[in-house]
Order: sequence, then C-alpha cells, then structure tokens
Amino acid sequence: MKKQLIIMLLLLLFIALPHASAAADKSAEDIYAERMSLYKKMETMTQIPWYWLAGVDAYEKGLRRARNDREEAKGVINIYYSPKEWSGPLNPNMEEDNPTAISMFDGVGLDGNENGKASLKEDADVLYTFANYLAEYGFDDNNIQLGLWEYYKRDQAINIITGHARIYRKYGTLDLDDHAFPVPLNYNYSYRSTWGDTRGWGGRRIHEGTDIFAGYRTPARATSYGVVELKGWNKYGGWRLGIRDLTNTYHYYGHLTSYEEGLEKGDIVAPGDTIGYVGSTGYGKPGTEGKFPPHLHYGMYRDNGYSEWSFDPYPSLKSWEKGERNSE
Ligand SMILES: [Zn+2]
Repeated sequence: MKKQLIIMLLLLLFIALPHASAAADKSAEDIYAERMSLYKKMETMTQIPWYWLAGVDAYEKGLRRARNDREEAKGVINIYYSPKEWSGPLNPNMEEDNPTAISMFDGVGLDGNENGKASLKEDADVLYTFANYLAEYGFDDNNIQLGLWEYYKRDQAINIITGHARIYRKYGTLDLDDHAFPVPLNYNYSYRSTWGDTRGWGGRRIHEGTDIFAGYRTPARATSYGVVELKGWNKYGGWRLGIRDLTNTYHYYGHLTSYEEGLEKGDIVAPGDTIGYVGSTGYGKPGTEGKFPPHLHYGMYRDNGYSEWSFDPYPSLKSWEKGERNSE
C-alpha cells in the first residue's frame, strides 16, 4: 500500500514537472513575439498604433513590479484591471466573463478574441479593452495622450508612456533589454556599495546612489534604452542628467563635468551611448567644480504610479559589469 502511494506520487511528479518547467522556459524571444503579435492584431482591430499599446503595457509592467498590491501578470500582457472594474462594481460575480452581463453591470471588460467571453484571464481581451478605450479618443498622438490623461490623471504617466512608445517606434522591436556599465570597462574606475550612507553637504540626506570613482572626462554612458528626462544644474548634483528606461526606472547621473555634445532633453539613448563626462561639479552655484574627487554619482529610482523612490543601484551595476565582461 505504502509502495503504491510512493509510485503514485512519483508518477504525479513526472506528470507535473515538465508542465511547470515548460511555463518557466518560455524564452524571452517567445514572449516578445507573442506580445508583438497581440499588439499588431489590436492595431488592426482598433487603429491604435502598436507602439502606443507597447508603451502602455511596459508602463503597467513597471507598476506591477513596483507595487505589492498587484500580482505578476499570468499572461504576456501586463495592463491591469481589478476584477471589480472588469466585471462591474455591483456585479455579484467578480469572475464574470459574459460580455452582456459585464456591460449590464457597467464593467469595462470586452471580448477581444471573439470567443464569446470577455475574460480577465485572456491577454487578447485585456489588451482589446484598453485599445478600444483609447480608440474612443482618436488615433493620432495628441488624441491618444488625451485618452491616457483621462485614464491615469497623472502627467508623469503620460510622459513615461510617451517615452516608451517613442523608443518602440524608433527601434521597431520589443527586444530592448540590453544593458551597459555606466563607464567603459577599459578605463580606470572603482566603486563599492555606498547606497544609504549618511553624507555631510546640504544637511541630513542619505546617499541615494553608488559613487563610481574615475578620472576627469571619463565617458559616462547610458546603461539601457531610454529617454533623457532631465538635464541641467542642481546645487547638490552639479551638472546632472536623468534617463527613464522601459521599466519606468529613472537613472540619475551626477557631478558631470560636461554633457555629450548635442544631447538634449527628450533624446532617445541606447545602452553604451556616451551621455556626458565624469567630473566633480556640484555643492555650490552653477559651475562649481573640484570640491571633492571626480566621480560619477549613479542613482536609480523606481516609480509606482504615484511617487518615486531610490533603490540601491549596486546589484544592477555589478550585473551589467559582469554581463559586459562576459560578452567581450
Ligand atoms: Zn554619490
């Protein structure tokens, strides 16, 4: 009897294991291909350009990662609807997938793959519901931005989504996960984990970044695909630059001695692009330089749809450095 039970359990394990690993093994390429085909299909159905849908979906993916009240998406689409919004606020069935009932209860859920169901569990239904909402405002960039504003009621959401959409439109692909270390590996540099240290100048602030010590005019580089969101002087950071990537993460470069010529706010950058040069600017009025040894202050900030907070860039820096070393 006991032996039978063990055999049964082993059998179950053999049946269950390949399924578990099959889901986890879906390669990044497969996921990108599946997403892209959904975006393109919805573009055909609603006239909303695919890169806008990709931009919204990337923004929502970042929100899921930054918030603990939203679970990870089960499918390949990340746009989030609560069961209540989807089914209708007064619908007693929070798992409703009957389009007629959903519409009767004022839910938003629609049937995007024409299988007769409007299911929160089906990527095509979720994406179609959002695309169809946007299409009510029109199909050009301004109308889409208006629709996004009505949906999110937050300027920064529209800025971030517009940046994502511009990047996807420019490169024509979703496969934009490459990274680079912020200074070229063949230069002399050193850094250690200093995030959260206390620091002296300008009152009690914690150190929101990692300092990468390097010589004057060592190139500072974009670490991911992104859009230049900020450029200019600040009494703490000196000449500084901020880049928003496709995960909504904001990358902050401080104390630059100068910027890469021609680089402006709004420009799209790729990993490895030079954005400026290491210096020691800051801690005073514009142009102040040399109050401390030259270094690149590198900060990373996450956005949850309401606010932003600093997190430790050290593990990312380590992994990008290793990634670049291994590809050499
Ligand atoms: Zn610093």
